[in-house]
Amino acid sequence: MIRVNVVAPAVTKKEAYIMVVKIDKDTCIGCGQCVDTCPVQALAMQDDGKVGVDAALCVDCGACVGVCPVSALSM
Ligand code: SF4
Ligand code: SF4
Repeated sequence: MIRVNVVAPAVTKKEAYIMVVKIDKDTCIGCGQCVDTCPVQALAMQDDGKVGVDAALCVDCGACVGVCPVSALSM
């Protein structure tokens, strides 16, 4: 019998972490606590005074969700 090894296609980081944290901009009060908490600097304050996420950097750790005082972040 001939055995064939099937190699899974490469998955990019962005595809692997498609569940990027979601931000409710209407609820965010711009306190910046999540920005300080993110271990990979994926969060940054935007010109509108709300936080934004760089989906290419977020590793879906959930740390920011736990520190938001107004529950504006979710996974
Ligand atoms: S889920 Fe983790 S990596 Fe993604 S933005 Fe929040 S703290 Fe940063
Ligand atoms: S911790 Fe919550 S309220 Fe504060 S900047 Fe982040 S998302 Fe906005």
